[in-house]
Amino acid sequence: MVVSEKMYELGSKRSAIRELFEYGKQRAAVVGVENVYDFSIGNPSIPAPDCVNETIRDLTEHLDSLSLHGYTSAQGDVGTREAIAEYLNKEHGTSFRADNFYITMGAAASLSICFKALTCSNEDEFIIIAPFFPEYKVFIEAVGAIPVIVPADTKEFQIRFDELEKRINPHTKGVVINSPNNPSGAIYSEETIQKLAELLNRKQEEYHTQIFLIADEPYREIAYDTKVPFVTQYYANTLVCYSYSKSLSLPGERIGWVLVPDEVCDSRMVYAACAGAGRALGYVCAPSLMQKMLVKCIGQTGDIDAYRANRDLIYEGLTKIGYHCHKPQGAFYLFVQALEEDADAFCEKAKEEDLLVVSANGFGCPGWVRISYCVDGEMIKRSLPAFERLYRRYNGTTEG
Ligand code: PLP
Repeated sequence: MVVSEKMYELGSKRSAIRELFEYGKQRAAVVGVENVYDFSIGNPSIPAPDCVNETIRDLTEHLDSLSLHGYTSAQGDVGTREAIAEYLNKEHGTSFRADNFYITMGAAASLSICFKALTCSNEDEFIIIAPFFPEYKVFIEAVGAIPVIVPADTKEFQIRFDELEKRINPHTKGVVINSPNNPSGAIYSEETIQKLAELLNRKQEEYHTQIFLIADEPYREIAYDTKVPFVTQYYANTLVCYSYSKSLSLPGERIGWVLVPDEVCDSRMVYAACAGAGRALGYVCAPSLMQKMLVKCIGQTGDIDAYRANRDLIYEGLTKIGYHCHKPQGAFYLFVQALEEDADAFCEKAKEEDLLVVSANGFGCPGWVRISYCVDGEMIKRSLPAFERLYRRYNGTTEG
């Protein structure tokens, strides 16, 4: 083979989610778009707040083209990094400075940069906690490290600390957490974060190593009734990977950051390694126009209440039919127990009702499915009879 087998495999096989999304488009051409209930993909369904387009218009009208579209410094414009620091300090009582932030092309880049920066040998391990965003495995393996999976707590969707502890060893380089969580919609409680910090501190001492906590937080602002603990305040060796893809509904624009607080061990060295990883991965700098827009729009969000309304519609609708669902506290995903052991088979049956939902086998949580409710609320209402028909297929009774 003249190309990397691994890269060939990644590039030629679509993810199960993309596959389903493409199928949905084909199916809509046959039966009509209003008759396909596509809950496959996590693309924000609410528009970016007005501030985004207004600021972009203003910038393109008033800033000269060269300063607007030129390279920025690799770590990002200092004005943007100062604005991010100032906003977080106001929100969380922290004392970050511009040079704690490295601006990236979204959370995917932030994560890849962290994994690349921290990996020293091919024995290094990063622990991921099911259910998890499937790309973690891709990013970790791409830098030559090993993903290690902690099975899911399918009751509360917090962390199974006994299982986590068993997997921590002298090769553990980091633990990745994602709260609010894709796909479960759970938010890790303060108690969970405190227990996690206590465990990691204890293990660092036991093995005389540094274990980094990598907090992947693209959904931080999409939280309904629960506060999302700010992890740097609980554990010193925390790196935060953030993105504006979801909070500002800008997934196609690719903008986010890595936060390396001063409290991290060898903080400046870790920061420099992140910059080195960004360079080695060829990111050069994050999009200039988006960086400049952020200065005006940090702290704004789209209409999160629209997601809350969808959460209530789908959660209450499915629970009433009889499905066992985990009530989401954040993000825009509902996690539902499949009606048979094999979630893939369940999703195939759902497809026969034109319900496109994603098996959680790929999220490391067999027997469950993910429903992305970042969709039009009317589609949720139209889909409920199809969910009911699907339920009845498993529960024997005919429609009454
Ligand atoms: N992390 C999680 C948990 C996600 O759900 C996503 C995207 O859906 C990402 C990271 C990547 O986000 P971005 O668009 O910022 O790269």
